[in-house]
Amino acid sequence: MSVSPAVSGARIMAHIDALARCSEQPDGLTRVYLSPELRAASELVLGWMREAGMCARIDAIGNVVGRYEGDALRLPCVMLGSHLDTVRDAGKYDGALGVVTAIECVRALAAQGRRLPFAVEVVGFGDEEGARFGATLLGSRAIAGTLGPKVLDLADRDGVTLRAALADYGLDPAHVSDAARPREEILAYAELHIEQGPVLEAEGLPVGVVTAISGATRLAIAIDGTAGHAGTVPMGLRRDALAAAAECVVAIEARAARTPELVATVGRLEALPGAVNVIPGRASFTVDVRSPRDVDRAAAVADATAAIEAICARRGVRARVDRTHEPHRTVRAVAEVAARPRDRRRGVRGARAAERRRSRCHGDGGGRRYRHGVLALPRRRQPSPRREHHGRGRRDRSARPAAVRRGVPTAAMSAAARQRVHALHDRLRAFRDALTAVTPRTPGSDA
Ligand SMILES: [Zn+2]
Repeated sequence: MSVSPAVSGARIMAHIDALARCSEQPDGLTRVYLSPELRAASELVLGWMREAGMCARIDAIGNVVGRYEGDALRLPCVMLGSHLDTVRDAGKYDGALGVVTAIECVRALAAQGRRLPFAVEVVGFGDEEGARFGATLLGSRAIAGTLGPKVLDLADRDGVTLRAALADYGLDPAHVSDAARPREEILAYAELHIEQGPVLEAEGLPVGVVTAISGATRLAIAIDGTAGHAGTVPMGLRRDALAAAAECVVAIEARAARTPELVATVGRLEALPGAVNVIPGRASFTVDVRSPRDVDRAAAVADATAAIEAICARRGVRARVDRTHEPHRTVRAVAEVAARPRDRRRGVRGARAAERRRSRCHGDGGGRRYRHGVLALPRRRQPSPRREHHGRGRRDRSARPAAVRRGVPTAAMSAAARQRVHALHDRLRAFRDALTAVTPRTPGSDA
């Protein structure tokens, strides 16, 4: 049974627009953690959750949490949601889409009087972006119980500490650990999110499924050469730090291109003293390397480091390479793990092709965007002559999310687990239907 007839795409869009008005500035969208704007957005979300049949509250770290009980009280939950904070000058769908759509799905369940064999909780995380305190994911880390006490001393650019901001928001900084949830209370977490890359739009697809959350390694490189007069030092006698850095940048780009799904970005490059008539004596740059496979990332970082050292040695300049960020292991998403072997091959191939296309046309330097991982795209159906007749830009509405289309090997599961999986698929279908109903038909109409 599908809940899709009661899911309203129009209401989802109206609620996203309402959230977009909770902003620091009238002509853009900025809504940082524990701000009056986040409070206003949270109040809207609390109201929508209650209308949808949920019990709703703000937890100890400022997340909005709504709960729709299952067919018995206090069952473990499937957790849905996304973040309510934004980066500065954000897009209105980032975060809001996942919260609003999840509430809409619960509203549809409640309208039909349906209860599932598990509870559904919707969370609007108060902090995901880290735009205010410089530390990301405070909301979900609090729920996971991994927030250390030191974070309370973090300060924003006005010197306001997290401790003080929590108190201003009406929360007790001594009790942020109350937001933590025991592992056994949460069966699974799923998040609907806009794609922060160009692939789905280029493919004309309404939805894809994340198959991995990529780990990232970051390096800071400083090169010391010899500054000199631009007019008097012959080319053969120069130790130009910036020219060495430029050669390193190109070598890193070429190394990244050799590994499928791996990306490497030099996002910042500085030269000193930085004058038009002085040979740069010092150059520094950053490198950000990401891959859904830790072994690929480690190999690329080692190769890039070796290339930097070789280039600098040949040019007679000194290089220092510092590792400024090393992630926990890459997380493989459930959708891919659960896929049947034959279809998994296709899924992985599709994802690799998508990532190759993405890496060719999109040098994403943002710290967090690839966190959303690699997309396994459902193969596009061959258009029938009739469908072709509708012309370019018409979406194939029969395209289904890969996880729904693939199915999972349910034969080996217990009856209860099978029921949970099927219920999850119902939710995925509802997401798909709601998304398909609101996806703009012409690329770039509002994103
Ligand atoms: Zn986001």
